[in-house]
Amino acid sequence: MPPAASPSAAQDRDFIQVRASAIHGTGVFAKRPIPKGTRVIEYAGRRIPKPDLLAAAERGERPLTYVLNLDADTAIDGAEQGNDARYINHSCAPNCEVYIFDGIPYIYAMQDIPAGAELSFDYQLQSASAQRISAALSRALFPCHCGSPQCRGTLAAAPRRRTPRKGRPPAPVLSS
Ligand SMILES: [Zn+2]
Repeated sequence: MPPAASPSAAQDRDFIQVRASAIHGTGVFAKRPIPKGTRVIEYAGRRIPKPDLLAAAERGERPLTYVLNLDADTAIDGAEQGNDARYINHSCAPNCEVYIFDGIPYIYAMQDIPAGAELSFDYQLQSASAQRISAALSRALFPCHCGSPQCRGTLAAAPRRRTPRKGRPPAPVLSS
């Protein structure tokens, strides 16, 4: 189930700032304490049919760095018409997660986040093709450096979590 906090209540608050991250490149940080259940920001971006997105990626025309899985047919590319949400890094022990309301994905705080902490969610990357890749290969292709004790070493989804649980957001597609 989505957090109980009303989406509209937190909608226009400005909780975050973007700056250099110790995890990877650029990150998103709490500007002030963010209570658990807060809707922090929409994951904005251009909606693209997945076949088109993947074909463009295979042609080298579109990196999938900021792609989020919306549903079975559509992905969101934060590289176009995106906002600060696209800079939120992956962590294997995240403090945020994605929920989708009326077809719009939002980043929610899944715990109380202190001011200054970096925001993260679990990308749970899944292969765009039907082919399964080994854990060793996924660690080589999509290494994780989140540094959490629970780190599984890769941005790819854990094998037993390939099917998103009911009530949880679909996982993003493979990202570069
Ligand atoms: Zn990790």
